[in-house]
Amino acid sequence: MPVSNELLDIIACPMCKGDIEYRGEEDFYYCEKDDIRYYGREFKGKVCLKCNGNLKKIEGEVLICKACSRWYPIIDDIPHMLPDELREDLG
Ligand SMILES: [Zn+2]
Ligand SMILES: [Zn+2]
Repeated sequence: MPVSNELLDIIACPMCKGDIEYRGEEDFYYCEKDDIRYYGREFKGKVCLKCNGNLKKIEGEVLICKACSRWYPIIDDIPHMLPDELREDLG
């Protein structure tokens, strides 16, 4: 587990400052062209909202805000705490 409990204690949701929870093996749907990750079981089988292209299923780690349910992917062991406009929230 690349994200330590100490780190989880320190980081907070950038949008609402809520507590963050780590999940290790979640399914994402990824558009290579736009470099966008979609997250959420309901999204299975759909296409990219930007380019209408096919999405590739990938497995990854995610941080989820317990307060507002926003999610932040961990890419190459680095949490990407992006504001809303830089990712899609379909969970
Ligand atoms: Zn796309
Ligand atoms: Zn939050």
